[in-house]
Amino acid sequence: MKMKLALILGKLLYLLGKPFGKSTNLPGELALKICPHLLGKFRFDGKVLAVTGSNGKTSTANMVAYILKQQGYTVAHNAKGSNLTGGVATTLLTAASLSGRVRRDFVVLEVDERFSRLIFRDFSPDALLCTNLFRDQLTRNGNVDVILEKLHEAIRPSVKLILNGNDPISADLAPANQRVYYGMAQTAQSSQKCLNITHDAKVCPRCFGRMDYSYYHYNHIGGFRCTKCGYTNPDWRYTADQVDFASGDFTINGYRVHTDYKDLFNLLNITAAVAACSELGLDLEQCCRAVSTFVPLKQRYDEFQVGDRRAVMILSKNQNPVSFDQSISHLLEREGEKTVVVFINNINHTGHRDTTWLYDISFERLLGKVNAIVGTGPRAYDLAVRLKLAGFPSEQVRIERNLSQLKAVVDKTRGDICILTELYDAKSILEVISK
Ligand SMILES: [Zn+2]
Repeated sequence: MKMKLALILGKLLYLLGKPFGKSTNLPGELALKICPHLLGKFRFDGKVLAVTGSNGKTSTANMVAYILKQQGYTVAHNAKGSNLTGGVATTLLTAASLSGRVRRDFVVLEVDERFSRLIFRDFSPDALLCTNLFRDQLTRNGNVDVILEKLHEAIRPSVKLILNGNDPISADLAPANQRVYYGMAQTAQSSQKCLNITHDAKVCPRCFGRMDYSYYHYNHIGGFRCTKCGYTNPDWRYTADQVDFASGDFTINGYRVHTDYKDLFNLLNITAAVAACSELGLDLEQCCRAVSTFVPLKQRYDEFQVGDRRAVMILSKNQNPVSFDQSISHLLEREGEKTVVVFINNINHTGHRDTTWLYDISFERLLGKVNAIVGTGPRAYDLAVRLKLAGFPSEQVRIERNLSQLKAVVDKTRGDICILTELYDAKSILEVISK
């Protein structure tokens, strides 16, 4: 009875909230208040895949859903990144009948790794894809060991795991569970040295011995071997290889894939999505063909024009240095002169005011590669200190804390305008810059 009431009111709230963009979390949260164990009461006609990890889970889950839909399957999916308990409940209750039956061929759920224990308390996916594990919003989440532990507790023995064979940390998730791996062979853009400050696997996650890397794709993702216990990359079933960075073509198990977003991070996410769909029973070649037509959401990477200058907005996750490192990689791919505008907030949107994460970002990679860096936002002065430490000459750094004055400062710079910020502040900075 409680369940039916929760479903009816949840669906109603979803319909009422939809025109106002308030229907991603609230309906699920309300339904869970009425029926706290609602998530355990759904029955699924198809398979349920959960996608988690520190970085790339939204785009990977979107790609999985896209491939499945391209093959003609019906899919329930929390597409808007509403990956906490309320968002997952909303996705399921809107796809379910009043008896709680989810009539879809597949359910694809992006799941926040820290909330996985809560989300999977009453139900369990058939398979779980973990893209990677890094430090992420350190003061809120704890270090990567804490995140790993939470995930361990959330995963039941029956769950099949699809794991990144280039990541020594997440590759070792729930060791007793059935698993398959995907990975990427060394590419022309992989490096011999770690280019990032954030490196969460300098020591072996199994025995704390020193890790040797034969190559890095980014951060601690690459080819690894423990000098003490011999822990090394597992054999993977799905291999990304033959990457042609000029054309954006590469292969997965010999089948051609194309992408316009050819950074190593994205290539691995594509491989993850294809591997997951193949493990769900789809034909591998068709998955490769389907994912080649995928266009990522404009949200995270948006090109536009400011007068006669080209501009690009690259968004990263708040207080997440690896995500910010990816944004730096994106902008370094661009040719020609550029000015970088960095908006650092992390006051307004979370209770966590820690700025130590700025010291985990490899701003040093921008040295000598950009005309100027303009720092703005409530934490602009913290950024200024960080850039000074990185060795930027003071004439290259301009600080304007007040967003309303930013445009005048940017107008005095040269080259493409590359804006780096996190999701919440995108709109306000875009309004100022594109005036
Ligand atoms: Zn070891």
